[in-house]
Amino acid sequence: MKLKLHWQIFIGLALGVAFGFLARAFGFREFVIEDVAVLGTVFLRGLRMIIVPLIVSSIISGVTSIGSAERFGRLSLKTLTYYISTSLLAIVTGLVLVNLIQPGVGAQLGLQEIPSELAANTEKVGDTLLGIIPTNPLAAMMRGDMLPTIFFSLLFGFFITRVPQPYNDQLTKFFQGVFEVMMKMTHFIILFTPIGVFALMAKIVAQTGFDVFVPLGTYMITVTAALVIHATITLPTLLSVLAGVNPIAHARAMSSALLTAFSTASSSATLPLTMDAMENNAGVSNKISSFVLPLGATINMDGTALYECIAAMFIAQAYGIELSFAQQVIVVLTALLASIGAAGVPMAGLVMITIILRAVGLPLEGVGLILAVDRILDMMRTSVNVWSDSSGAVIIARSEGEKGIKVLRKTPETIGG
Ligand code: ASP
Repeated sequence: MKLKLHWQIFIGLALGVAFGFLARAFGFREFVIEDVAVLGTVFLRGLRMIIVPLIVSSIISGVTSIGSAERFGRLSLKTLTYYISTSLLAIVTGLVLVNLIQPGVGAQLGLQEIPSELAANTEKVGDTLLGIIPTNPLAAMMRGDMLPTIFFSLLFGFFITRVPQPYNDQLTKFFQGVFEVMMKMTHFIILFTPIGVFALMAKIVAQTGFDVFVPLGTYMITVTAALVIHATITLPTLLSVLAGVNPIAHARAMSSALLTAFSTASSSATLPLTMDAMENNAGVSNKISSFVLPLGATINMDGTALYECIAAMFIAQAYGIELSFAQQVIVVLTALLASIGAAGVPMAGLVMITIILRAVGLPLEGVGLILAVDRILDMMRTSVNVWSDSSGAVIIARSEGEKGIKVLRKTPETIGG
């Protein structure tokens, strides 16, 4: 009997952690960091290889099947409303916890050097927003810039529905065909997830171990608690109330994507698995998932939003700077923008914190305080990001009256793995 994929991934993850520890204990860290890690790199490269063609073909084929301009407009509105409101809910959860726990007050932290790539980050949120419109769509695709790629694909798909026959049919069928091929390639690459996850986890543990966590313990607990509240109370309530979805069944359906998000710390790299699980396990149509998920992987980051807010407040507390109510409102709004602007790649959220620090006049070196524990928090927030995207897709699918959804409260036994 074949073990279900999510179990294989889970075993890969656990073995990876154990192997990383053994490497630390018995002095073969170098071997893990340099040689075993190659397997993880191969896996990540495989995922990255398919992302752009997968997104382009999936969005175009999804949009052509949506059909009417009115339906397209309604879907866009619902999707953006869901994304912005869940991100705000996440930020407020973070803000309440960081004010209650006050992890930064009296924290004794030696300031660390900020790596130059962080210090050099000068991109403003305004530039990210303008950059949505590509001056050269092919160049954007070649660079792997998600937002302009998505924007152009949405427009392209939409205007396919506006051209006369035979072009309409030809193009629709062509992009559906490309999408089918990309999904087949996705299935193939997903088979290697357990090995990739094993190598990624072994490398992280061999590199960092647990010692770095001690001085930042309370800060980590605050972020973790906020993530847990958002993931296990806020989003499940929305799933249940708005869509009649059984959150546990939905989590099981999405488990391979959630575990991969944790191990890769990248929503973009996880996107192929999220789409696969969404269509095959949760039963959401390609029409909805191809629109909601790529957009979500790029702009909807609840975990990141909440983390941005807590991290900025933590830095203020650690420097003994009291932020007024108005300043905290600015933190909330910039945290939202930062989470929208952050790319779905590892450490993107950390880079974006500088935007908030600048907005409320906090020292940029503050980022150095939280650097040491960013990776593990990144892994957790990425899982929450993917969890929110997938919840959005199923909620929107339900609101559009989709019939094939397999994770409803009444039919949990129909879930595949
Ligand atoms: N790594 C996160 C993601 O891909 C973004 C972040 O750094 O917060 O979703």
